[in-house]
Amino acid sequence: MQRSDKVEKLKKFIKTSFGSGIPIRYRFFNIIFMMGILVGIAGVFACINLNSSIQAITISAVMTLAFPLLAYVGIRSKSKQNRVIILSLCIVNLLIFPALYLSGGAIDCGIPSYFVLGIALTLFLSSGTISYVLSAIFSIWYGFIFFVSWKWPEVCIDVPAFEASATGRRDFAFNAISSNSLMVCIALAMLAKVIFSLYQTQVKKIEANIVEVERQSIIDPLTTVYNRRHMYAYLEEQFELASQNKTPLSVLLFDIDFFTRLNDNYGHLTGDAVLKALARILKNACGENEIVTRYGGEEFLIILPGVEKDKAVARAEEIRRVVEESYLSPDLPRDTPVTISGGVATLRPGDTNETLVARVDHNLYRAKENGRNRICSEEVES
Ligand code: GH3
Ligand code: MG
Ligand code: MG
Repeated sequence: MQRSDKVEKLKKFIKTSFGSGIPIRYRFFNIIFMMGILVGIAGVFACINLNSSIQAITISAVMTLAFPLLAYVGIRSKSKQNRVIILSLCIVNLLIFPALYLSGGAIDCGIPSYFVLGIALTLFLSSGTISYVLSAIFSIWYGFIFFVSWKWPEVCIDVPAFEASATGRRDFAFNAISSNSLMVCIALAMLAKVIFSLYQTQVKKIEANIVEVERQSIIDPLTTVYNRRHMYAYLEEQFELASQNKTPLSVLLFDIDFFTRLNDNYGHLTGDAVLKALARILKNACGENEIVTRYGGEEFLIILPGVEKDKAVARAEEIRRVVEESYLSPDLPRDTPVTISGGVATLRPGDTNETLVARVDHNLYRAKENGRNRICSEEVES
C-alpha cells in the first residue's frame, strides 16, 4: 500500500471514528474507550517497571485488551455495541475476576474489592432489566466463589509474584498502580455510559419533539383530521400513483348545511362539537389509505384511492345518511338533524390535482343549489 493511501485510510478512520463521519454519541463513546486503552497500556508498563505482582499485570493487561476490543467492535459495528459490552461483562465477572481471585491467594488478596466494582460496572454499562439480572447473577456467582474458597481452600493457587524478593514493593505496586489504573478505566467506562445515556435521552427527546411537530403541522387541532396542507400533499401522492398504475381515484367534499345558522342559534362551542362529531363519523367511514381532511371551516374532503365513481357516490350517500341519522350534539334538538351536502369527483384523463378539486367543489355547489342534504357527482345525483 502506498504511503498516501495509508494516510488517506487513517484520515478516513479518524473521521468515521471520532469526527463528523458519525453521530456525536458514538464519537463520545469511542473517545472514552480510546482513553481507556491508553490508561490500560500505561498501567501495564507501570506494573512491569515497578516489579508488580502477576495479578496486577494480568488485571492491567486484561483491561488493556478488553478496551481495544470494545472500542474496535464499537467502531466497526455500532449495532452490536450493547451485545459486546454484555459479553465483556460476562467474561470479566464470570471468568477473569474469579480466576484472578482463586490464583491470587483468595481472601487474603486484594481481588475481592474488584468483585464489587465488577457488579457496579455491570449496573452502569448495561441498561434496562438485563443490567439487574446480570448483576444478580454475578453477585450469586461471586458468593459461590467465596464459599468454595472458604470450604475448600486447596482450590486456591498462590501464583508467585513477578519478582519474589520485592515483596514490600510488590504490595505497594499492586495496590497503588494496578488498582488505580483499573479504577480509572472503570471510572472512564462509567463516565462513558453516563454521557452515552444522557445523549441518548436528549436525542430521544429531540426525536419525539420532531415527530410531534411534524404531526402538528399536518393535523387540524379541533377535529384531529388532516389539514389542507396534508390534503394537497397526499392528493398529489395518490394522483401520481393513480396515473402511473391506471387505477381510479375519487374525492368526496362535504359541507354542513346551514352551519352559520346553527352557530348563531346554539353558539360556536356547539358548532365546534358538531364539527368534532362529524369528523369522527367521517374518519370511521374511511378504510386503509383513505383519509379525511379539513378542507375549510366546515368542509371536509375525503380522498379515496382505488375507488371508482359509482362506489364513491355510494360511499358519499352512505355517509350523508349516517350523518342525518346521527345526533351530533346534546345541545341540539333531536327533531332537527344536522345534515350535510356532498360532491363527488373521480379522476379523468387529463385531470390535474386542481381540476379534480375544482370539480368536486363544483359538484358540492350543485348539491347546495339543488336543495342541500344530497350528493352530486358528474352525472349521478341522489
Ligand atoms: P350552507 O348550507 O350554504 O353551507 O350554509 P352555511 O351557513 O353552512 O354556509 P357556509 O358553509 O359558508 O358556513 C360557513 C360557516 O362555518 C361560517 C363560520 O361561522 C362557520 N365556521 C367555520 N369554521 C368554524 C369553526 O371552526 N367552528 C365553528 N363553530 N364554526 C365555524
Ligand atoms: Mg355550510
Ligand atoms: Mg362552507
